[in-house]
Order: sequence, then C-alpha cells, then structure tokens
Amino acid sequence: MPKGRVEIHEKYCKSCGLCVAVCPTKVLRISEKTNTKGYRPVEQFKEGCIGCALCAVTCPDAAIEVFKTEE
Ligand code: SF4
Ligand code: SF4
Repeated sequence: MPKGRVEIHEKYCKSCGLCVAVCPTKVLRISEKTNTKGYRPVEQFKEGCIGCALCAVTCPDAAIEVFKTEE
C-alpha cells in the first residue's frame, strides 16, 4: 500500500473543506484551532494517507503539500 504524508500550511487554509471531501481515506478534518486569518485550518487526524495528492490538487489555496513516504 502506498503511503504519504501531508504538510498543511495553516496560514493559507480557508476552511473550505474541499480536501476533506475528496480524500479517499478520510484522514483530514477541519481542526478546532484558528489561523491568523480567523479560519479553522485542516488537520490530518489519523494515519492512513496514501499520498494520492488529491487534496493538494483540489485545494484552491495551495495550502497542502504531499510527500510520498514508502510503497
Ligand atoms: S494525499 Fe490523498 S490520502 Fe493523503 S490526505 Fe491527501 S487526499 Fe488524503
Ligand atoms: S482545500 Fe485547502 S483551503 Fe480548503 S480546507 Fe482544504 S487545505 Fe483548507
């Protein structure tokens, strides 16, 4: 199973939820914290990212980077 890791640039996130909806393994959620612009940034809340990069491609604000870790 491919594995990946996401890096979320919280200051760019606008809480739109598109990445949460598109993630096939449902490892993302809107967090409880607030960023400098007053939005609640996305967080990865459990293991299971497969590095598919759908979240990064979907994000209109380039707030997510995806790194493949292993196959
Ligand atoms: S890379 Fe794929 S599996 Fe990982 S968080 Fe993004 S959409 Fe989900
Ligand atoms: S798609 Fe981008 S801006 Fe929207 S919630 Fe996800 S990280 Fe934030």
